[in-house]
Amino acid sequence: MAHIKVLSTQLINKIAAGEVVERPASVVKELMENSLDAGAARINVEIEDGGKKLIRISDNGCGMNPDDLALACASHATSKITADEDLFSIVTLGFRGEALASIASVSHLDIVSRPADSIEGARIEISGGSQSPLTPTAASYGTVITIRNLFFNTPARRKFLRTTNTEMGHITEQFTRIALAHTEAQFSLMHNGRKIHDLPAGQTLQERIGSLFTPELAQNLMDVHRKDPQLEISGLIAHPHQSRTGTQWQYVFLNGRHIRDRFIGHAIRESYRGLIEINRQPVVFLFLKMPPDTVDVNVHPAKTEVRFANSNLVHSQVLAALRDRLLSTDLTVSMQTDKFAQPHNQPSSAATTSESTQEHQQRVRQAMADFFKSIPPPAQPPAAATKASPTAPSYNSQGQATLPLAEQSPPVDTSAPTFMPPADTSAAAGTTATTNDSIAPFEPQNTTDLNTVLQIHNAYLVTQNEDGLIIIDQHALHERILYEKLSRQFNQGRLARQRRLIPEVIDVTAAQIAAMENHSELLLELGIEMEQFGPSSIAIQSFPVLLEKASPAEFVGDLLDMLIEQAGQTTRPELIHHVLDMMACKAAVKAGDPLSESEIRALLTQRHLIEQPGTCPHGRPTTISLSLAELEKQFKRT
Ligand code: ADP
Ligand code: MG
Repeated sequence: MAHIKVLSTQLINKIAAGEVVERPASVVKELMENSLDAGAARINVEIEDGGKKLIRISDNGCGMNPDDLALACASHATSKITADEDLFSIVTLGFRGEALASIASVSHLDIVSRPADSIEGARIEISGGSQSPLTPTAASYGTVITIRNLFFNTPARRKFLRTTNTEMGHITEQFTRIALAHTEAQFSLMHNGRKIHDLPAGQTLQERIGSLFTPELAQNLMDVHRKDPQLEISGLIAHPHQSRTGTQWQYVFLNGRHIRDRFIGHAIRESYRGLIEINRQPVVFLFLKMPPDTVDVNVHPAKTEVRFANSNLVHSQVLAALRDRLLSTDLTVSMQTDKFAQPHNQPSSAATTSESTQEHQQRVRQAMADFFKSIPPPAQPPAAATKASPTAPSYNSQGQATLPLAEQSPPVDTSAPTFMPPADTSAAAGTTATTNDSIAPFEPQNTTDLNTVLQIHNAYLVTQNEDGLIIIDQHALHERILYEKLSRQFNQGRLARQRRLIPEVIDVTAAQIAAMENHSELLLELGIEMEQFGPSSIAIQSFPVLLEKASPAEFVGDLLDMLIEQAGQTTRPELIHHVLDMMACKAAVKAGDPLSESEIRALLTQRHLIEQPGTCPHGRPTTISLSLAELEKQFKRT
């Protein structure tokens, strides 16, 4: 075995760089944090080629005098802590003193700095860790740090970098996190000479969210507050109807630093339970303040994870703060006011509960009550409430449905009629049947049959076949039909698309633009043509014909989020299944949509076209049937 040697400082720094400097975005984060620690009120970020060519951060902070500048890039050199006990009272963003040293070891770095009270500045250049002598230079006060050719001497790292757009997406995300936490400061972000963000100092959090995301999102936020001696929570949370497909729109900050935490993530999800669909995620911006000695920030090199002395307290307080706010807000009423109007001018499903339809529903309810008078009310809200779409939120079902039509578990009261779908949804996939409840093939015999269809609660279609009674979940059935059509078309080539007369322009994040560019081929196969239109918008030029009922803006936004979320995690067939599934769900009629007679007819006549009429793409039943024999048994006629 070779003799043990102490590694050179240069090599140590390169190894440390592997931890701290993962990609250009990590450099941007570290440098912006340094600027904030230096008290800067203005921070400009300039990027070229996704940070692969150049990253430049200029600030108007305290600057460094020549002696400090000479030391700034030495490893473990920091002005922020001096003694052990300082580690437990950290109020600055940095403290490890290794960011500059690490970055300098894997790039060409150049710093120009001047404290406000000096007449001249100083410059230092470091290339791959070797430092040039300091030179005096004219400079305005503050610090300008320029990084060129990141990873020039670590080819493995360099090869690992993704496309310019992907790297830029990560940079924008880091920029966003810091800009959200420091609304008092002015920030700008430029890419290849183009301005991506220009944020004035002193914005309110709501204004900043509007600038960084979309104005619609900012308009519909609810504020939360909770104060406890150990933990103060404040922030803005989005209305449930603005849920997203992934957790990337959940921003949590602890003492001014963006963090990711499993407990907090769980509490957020839990607080929206029952208000949004199971596979959706709420949008929140939360700021936690805790005494620095109750949390350890020194557990992760990039400091994105922390360790709480009392994580249960954090979980329960976050849950309580959000839940209280959500429950004290009349979400149903709010949905009908302009305040929570649907984005993109889409009529909200709540509109269907206007005066006239309420009267109509009342009549139908009475008729149904007479018809099913022997059936007790359900123990739980009906399934229509739990699988409502984003435009028909579950809390908006007004508890009006009174039949346990699609409960996944049988009613507890065994003397009650069994209206349950087959327990195993795979059994529901064909025409196989349990003795009592069968998913019968429905072949409309003649128009009379279709004319006896009744739409109840704008959610279910009730009709008859030779054997008895059939109840169809209109959304689930339509979703299933669309899924079949979409996947057939997709497998035959590409989805038929319709060119829009006027392209629809939507606001997007840089990450969404990157996702669009990374998946341009797939998008085209899906019948979606779009291109970047200005720094933070996309113009949708064509859209799939089959999605005529969906809002292109909402669909494209969600689709791009999903592509970001699934990046590198799924195979192509899985991804395609997810996308088609999402398309079908968005384009299908919703629970809550009143259907015209011809729409009902069209839906039912298409039912036999699909291969597995009994279940929706998620495996939930679309149809439940009740035979005459069973009815007779329930009415004790036998
Ligand atoms: P840390 O932030 O953990 O202290 P860094 O390597 O990031 O370590 O920075 C080293 C030191 O360089 C800091 O402690 C600070 O004194 C100085 N420094 C870095 N960036 C700036 C800046 N933009 N303005 C003023 N001083 C800075
Ligand atoms: Mg630092």
